[in-house]
Order: sequence, then C-alpha cells, then structure tokens
Amino acid sequence: MNDPFAPLEEALRSTPGNVPLRLYLASQLASAGYSGRALDHYREAAGLQPGSVDAILGVGRCLIAQGEADKGIAALNQALGMDPDRLQSGHLHMEIAKALYFLGRIEDARHHFSAGIRDNPEAADADLSRRLNENEEGNRGLRIGQSERIPVGGGDISPSNFDGLQDTGLSFRDVGGMDALKETLRRAIVYPFRSPEIYRAYGRSIGGGILLYGPPGCGKTYIARATAGEIQARFISVGLSDIMDMWYGESERKLHDLFASARNQAPAVLFFDEVDALGHSRTRMSQFTAGRTLVNQFLAEMDGIQSRNENLLIIGATNSPWDVDPAFRRPGRFDRIIFVAPPDAAARVEILKVHCRNKPLDRIDFNRIVTQMDRFSGADIKNVCDVAADKALDEALKSGSIRKITTADFLEAIRRVKPSTSEWLETAHSYARYANTSGLYSEVEDYLQGR
Ligand code: ATP
Repeated sequence: MNDPFAPLEEALRSTPGNVPLRLYLASQLASAGYSGRALDHYREAAGLQPGSVDAILGVGRCLIAQGEADKGIAALNQALGMDPDRLQSGHLHMEIAKALYFLGRIEDARHHFSAGIRDNPEAADADLSRRLNENEEGNRGLRIGQSERIPVGGGDISPSNFDGLQDTGLSFRDVGGMDALKETLRRAIVYPFRSPEIYRAYGRSIGGGILLYGPPGCGKTYIARATAGEIQARFISVGLSDIMDMWYGESERKLHDLFASARNQAPAVLFFDEVDALGHSRTRMSQFTAGRTLVNQFLAEMDGIQSRNENLLIIGATNSPWDVDPAFRRPGRFDRIIFVAPPDAAARVEILKVHCRNKPLDRIDFNRIVTQMDRFSGADIKNVCDVAADKALDEALKSGSIRKITTADFLEAIRRVKPSTSEWLETAHSYARYANTSGLYSEVEDYLQGR
C-alpha cells in the first residue's frame, strides 16, 4: 500500500523552507483526515512564516479536529486578528461560533455568530442559526439570524458550558520522569484529596493554588491533567487570553461564574493557562479599567480558595513567570510556585517509553538515544517518537509488512527535531542572575548549575 503523501514529504525534506509546498501538503493531509500530520506541517509553516494566516488557520482547524478545541479556537481568533481588512472574518467568526457551539459555550457562539453576519451576511450558517435558536432559553429579545448584535451573557453558566471540562483519562503513570514534581503534587494535592479527614483533623484545608512555570512543551498542562486524573477530579481548562479576548466587558462576571461552577463540580482542578496574560493586563494595560478589574476579580476569587474553595484546586501555568503580577504570589493565592524543568536523561528515557507504548519496537538503546537529546522538551521527545515511527511506517507502507522502529530511526529523527527549550533557558538565566531578589528563580538557577 503506497502512502500518497510520501512524494510530497520527500520533496519537503530537500526543501524544508518551502512554505507554499508545506501548506499544500498540510491541506491535503487535513482533507484526507490526517489532522495530526497536517498539524505538524502547519506548525512548521507558521514557524517559518509567522505572518501566514493560512498556517495559523490550519493550526486552529487541526487542533479542533484533534479535540484540543480551546487551543484551536485561540488560534482561529489569532487568525481573525491577522485579517484587518476583514476579508475572511465573516466566515471565520462562523467557524469559531460552530466550534464554541459544539463545546456547549452557547453564549460565546452567539456572539461570534452575530459578529459573522455583521462582517459578511452571506457567511450566515443556516444550520447553526437553527441550533442556536433552539438553544435559546427564555426571552432574550433577539433571534439569531438577525444582523443586530446579540448581547453576550445573560444566562447562568452551567458546568457543561465550559470548554475543557473533562475526565482526563491520564494519571501519573502516563507522565514520564518528573519524579520530584510528582511527589510535590502528591503531597500538595493527592494525599489531602485521598485522606481529607486526616487533614481536617489537623485543621488543614484541602485545595489551594499552585503555579507551574517553565519552558514550553515540558509538561505543565500534561501533569496538571494527570493530577486531576490521579485524584479522579474534574479537569476544567481555561485559556486566560481566551477569556480576555472573547468575554469582553463581561469577563469579571464570567470569571466569577466559572469559579462558582467549578466549586459545584468539586473535587475539581481548575487549570488556567497563560496566567501571565493577566499580568500584562494589570501592568501594561493599567490605563484600561477593564483589564484591572478582571485581575482584581481573579484575585478575589483566589482569596476565596481557603474559605470557600474546599476541594477545588487551582493550577496556573505560564512560560513567562517574569510577567506574572506579584499579587498572584501572595499567601492564599498561588502559594506554591514550581519550576517544570526540561526532562533529565532518566526522565527522557521514561518519556520516550511512554510515547512508544504500543508501537512496534526493535531492541532500542534508549540510553544512547537520550544522550543526544539535551534540552529536548517532553513535546520534542514526543515529536522524535512520531518522526521515528513515520520513517518505519513509510517503509511498511511500501513493503506491505510491519517493520520495527530501530535505534537508528530515533537517531535520525533526533537530527531533524530541534530542542525547543534553549531560548527560554537563556532568558530565564538572565532573570535568575539579575532579578532573583525574592528567590523566585532559585530552582532555575539550581537547574542551570546542575547541568
Ligand atoms: P506550553 O507552555 O507550550 O503550554 P506545556 O509545558 O504545558 O507547554 P504540555 O502541553 O503539557 O506542555 O506538553 C506537550 C506534550 O508533550 C504533551 O501533550 C505530551 O504529549 C508531551 N509531554 C510533555 N512532558 C511529558 C512527560 N513528562 N511525559 C510524557 N509526555 C510528556
């Protein structure tokens, strides 16, 4: 059986910087249903040509197809922002509205639907219009399909209305390495959740806030999901820039409703990605009342952790701890701030094994492989596994029989995947050296010295 995409991939190997060809291949893969492979090419194209709307759109659509709807919607929003002439914005709003509708975020879907018909009445999607109208509870005055602006909000937020509300299906078993971090999370979260009566007997509350920081792709989101799985708690994932972009003036009330709903869902892990986005809103945009009040609302909700947020754990994540407002670090808010470092050699072996589970492997010299993966993030390691597997898969497709993945496949894959943590580590090094007055970056310093 031939892989019809192999010749194009082969052509790209000799001209990796050919963005139009990469976009073409990605669109073909996406249309054939290979959203994972398409996503890799769209991401690569976006890296090569950051201004490419097609690449960002592709990333967004593939993420949605892969079930990462919140990240996908964020990418589509980014593409919207890159389309100042609003040439495609009617259709794009409509696409976002659909994704939001299927996530159960009806009010946000309505908002985008109405923005879509405002920008281009021909973009109106009749099926979505019908679905949104059916979903409309009570009397909100306007019917979807009219070109007036539909007011955002007005209804109670029910738990199912949040993106990312899910049982994660992950546990610590799925997280390679990170033993010290797992132990910290067990002590902070898992044991208190499992033996609440013992903690109560000693007057300790259960729940609280933890901030994870570190380079991209090193598993902050992944371990937060696994933590929720470990204690069989709900996992509610919220991208803060989404809230700020999409909830407009209603952000504070929505944020309040989000916390209230999460409390009703307890035990739950409420995960906030990009916590630094709020820091920006307070410092850089301090002239805008909206930004400030959102931060204040967030802080007030965090302050409720000890009194009212029993069994609700808040995990924040950021790649830019230097942008996080210090107010978040006060006691009772994000009490514990934990550095999620790139994996060491032993952890790299574990992560490789996690991502090679259920793949046909030859006898693999893992130790040899990982010595060549300094500064690789968990996501880079997964990428290496995928590239190595693709090589064997290509040959299997040609020969018609399974060919096991070998150590040589991994070594070749490593040459093609660049470690993505170096830039972050260099920036963090400067902060650790010149701005470590509160000891915030001591863990980073220890890590850099120990390498
Ligand atoms: P970002 O800051 O860019 O959001 P992140 O630190 O949250 O990145 P994740 O999204 O958690 O990184 O990780 C990306 C992917 O890398 C995960 O989905 C997972 O496949 C893989 N990964 C990272 N760390 C590990 C690990 N310790 N074990 C297994 N897989 C891992």
